[in-house]
Amino acid sequence: MGIPEVKDTVINSIKTTIMEQYDIAVIGSGPGGYVAAIRSAQLGYKTLLIEKYETLGGTCTNVGCIPTKALLDSTHHYHDAVHKFDKHGINLESLQLNFNQLYKRKNDVILKNTQGLDYLMKKNKITVVMGTASFVNNDTVIIDSNNGDIQTIKSKHYIIATGSKPASIPGVKIDKHRIISSTEALSLLEQPKKIVVIGGGVIGVEMASIFNRIGTHVTILEYADHLINTMVTDLGVSLKKILKKEGIDILLQHSVYKAENLGNRAKVWFKDENGMENSLEADFILVAVGRKAYTDGLGLENTDVKITQKGAIETNELLQTAVPYIYAIGDVVGGAMLAHKAEEEAVFVVERINGQKPHINYSRIPSVVYSWPEVASVGFTENELIKKGLKYNIGKFPFSANARARAGMETDGFVKVISDPKYGELLGVHIIGARAADLIAQAVVGLEYEVTADDMSRISYAHPTFSEVLKEAYTVAAGRPSVSI
Ligand code: FAD
Ligand code: NAD
Repeated sequence: MGIPEVKDTVINSIKTTIMEQYDIAVIGSGPGGYVAAIRSAQLGYKTLLIEKYETLGGTCTNVGCIPTKALLDSTHHYHDAVHKFDKHGINLESLQLNFNQLYKRKNDVILKNTQGLDYLMKKNKITVVMGTASFVNNDTVIIDSNNGDIQTIKSKHYIIATGSKPASIPGVKIDKHRIISSTEALSLLEQPKKIVVIGGGVIGVEMASIFNRIGTHVTILEYADHLINTMVTDLGVSLKKILKKEGIDILLQHSVYKAENLGNRAKVWFKDENGMENSLEADFILVAVGRKAYTDGLGLENTDVKITQKGAIETNELLQTAVPYIYAIGDVVGGAMLAHKAEEEAVFVVERINGQKPHINYSRIPSVVYSWPEVASVGFTENELIKKGLKYNIGKFPFSANARARAGMETDGFVKVISDPKYGELLGVHIIGARAADLIAQAVVGLEYEVTADDMSRISYAHPTFSEVLKEAYTVAAGRPSVSI
């Protein structure tokens, strides 16, 4: 951990700085990268964090988790003010939506978070370089900061955390004007009247919710036969009913094959399950058909690091690439594209470098959709257990039978607990309902520590809370009748 050797030379007006050597150099400052850098500095390593974007935080902080949740929260308040406040006895006259303020607050929230990251980097004495990192060979990286400065660095270990970018489908080119991804949808200057969303997965549902709540006409075109199809089927089926009731048009088993920018509008062509062709026009076509690992400009072709057929960086179970001191984490390695998965991998890799023995239990990583009601899931789905030929018990309980849900007019949804019929061990918990995103944490603990449904049902839950829906579902899964219905 020596002091870096710094040499400055000027070649053709480009300032080249040779600076070596770091213990851990992290490329990309999303939740994978910034957590890796912080953990690395905490363990005493000389740490470098490189980011090509103008602020830290990656997709999640700048154009992902944080801005979507800011807009989802604001539009949720607006929706409640329009549809529920009168029932609470609150009458608002001439209620208005200020679209610019909605987006401005979202920007303020992003700023608070990126400033928080700047502070954390300083506090942990992490060297931050803003610029694009590119491998020259297995040992050396150059950083081009786009202002004429090029640095060359060496590090004992590299952690690649370059994340992902929106994917598209044949016939649909995201032109960022009328045919947009979630990134552009988060920077609109005025409220669209009509949006067609391609894809009823997580991004599709969250973006559709934001716009529908403020009065934009939204249609979702989804290829599969239910929404959020990576989760338990009944969650998607139930969510569709709720979102339809809220006014979103949802066309399932519809496959999009073409989209075109018409100037001041856009058009999308699709086929239904019977092959019937149809089309729709809207202000924007929002493409939400998944994301792909991002390695452009990283110079991996100059290294021995391998890429999978899907474009993700290939790693072993320790997240090492084919070059053992180059690691890769987060969206760029594939698997669940979730901020908290990237964070787990960040800590895992740094602690491994440190000689510790951390572990990640991928099957205990929860998934959440921040619609309203929220949807959250952890552990096995029924389909997965059926495929494995395993038997299971189900305990299901509705929010409509919960006192807190009735008090708050939040009666949509249910909890479904899946447990092992012989020993009662929890195998999966799936929730659609108010505050599911927070409720799932308790189920994660239960699964991680291999607790039985019976044990989970016999601990005390504060009354009246939404968490009592979990208690009742655990009770039913344990083979006892609920005391609430
Ligand atoms: P990223 O966050 O993508 O960060 C990668 C960083 O690397 C970027 O800043 C990029 O500029 C930088 N970079 C790339 N190449 C280079 C290079 N050569 N040199 C230097 N820097 C480079 N997940 C959740 O868990 N919860 C949510 O609520 C959620 N909401 C989302 C909403 C939306 C609209 C989207 C798009 C995603 C959402 N996600 C959510 C997913 C989440 O954002 C990602 O899983 C997460 O950001 C992945 O983190 P990462 O560190 O792997 O990569
Ligand atoms: P996704 O995989 O969740 O959904 C994509 C959907 O597009 C699928 O349902 C698929 O069937 C559909 N689709 C594909 N081709 C189609 C076609 N031709 N016509 C119609 N539909 C088609 O992907 P996403 O929603 O883009 O999200 C990308 C990633 O970002 C996900 O991995 C997700 O985990 C992450 N993310 C997470 C959160 C969260 O944690 N709350 C929020 C947003 C994004």
